Amino acid sequence: MSTQPPVIEIRNLHKAYGALEVLKGVSITAPKGHVISLIGSSGSGKSTLLRCCNLLEDSQQGDIIFKGEPVKWQGSGHGRRPSDAGQVLRIRTNLSMVFQQFNLWAHMSILQNVMEAPLTVLKLERAQVEEAARRYLDKVGIGDKCDAYPAQLSGGQQQRAAIARALCMEPEALLFDEPTSALDPELEQEVVRVIKDLAAEGRTMMIVTHDMKLAADVSDHVVFLHQGLIEEQGPPETLFGAPKSERLRGFLSATY
Ligand code: ADP
Ligand code: MG
Repeated sequence: MSTQPPVIEIRNLHKAYGALEVLKGVSITAPKGHVISLIGSSGSGKSTLLRCCNLLEDSQQGDIIFKGEPVKWQGSGHGRRPSDAGQVLRIRTNLSMVFQQFNLWAHMSILQNVMEAPLTVLKLERAQVEEAARRYLDKVGIGDKCDAYPAQLSGGQQQRAAIARALCMEPEALLFDEPTSALDPELEQEVVRVIKDLAAEGRTMMIVTHDMKLAADVSDHVVFLHQGLIEEQGPPETLFGAPKSERLRGFLSATY
């Protein structure tokens, strides 16, 4: 039997921006091969939670554990920072983010965008990176767009390029922050299809989404955040089929 530690484990995480408490003690576990979706109203702390996971944001209290390895901290409260730069780099490169606004480099071709971080951050060999980049662009269905620039692509194609870029880091997990929110409905589906393929392959993912159908279709576990706390969580069948909390019922009836 496998006793692998979870890829990501968050325990009792607290995060404030100044006096604004955004996360008030959140615990989430993402076992290897599982898809965790985060849902909740705007401002409930979903993006902040993802950004804390890969240490793009500091947090004041609680543990972040990557594959059994707790983040090492120095200082406390608002002065708390990760103390091991090597560990930060290892965690950040292993938890690749895909953003709502794609965040591609406008002055680089699609192929260059995908190759950039493996070359400069991981310092991998160019021929090997190019082979992987072309393979991942093929995988997301835009292998013919290698030489195009982001502005020449549709939103759905740009987001698929951003997913290829995340995959090219060969991360342990992918973190998606509203990957379909900036897209027209007909383009949304091409990105949803890629995410479903990744889920079917057994990729570990945390997905912030407003797309309840996507969350219901791909998730092993769904977490409903409300004002910085987990209000309800469970398998999608239960969370969507038989929500217990009044707030979750209200949220679902407003979003469906
Ligand atoms: P969500 O992604 O669920 O919409 P966020 O995590 O983006 O929520 O934001 C949670 C709260 O934190 C909101 O009140 C937001 O205004 C605030 N917030 C987010 N980022 C910052 C920041 N960099 N500085 C100050 N406040 C922030
Ligand atoms: Mg957000």
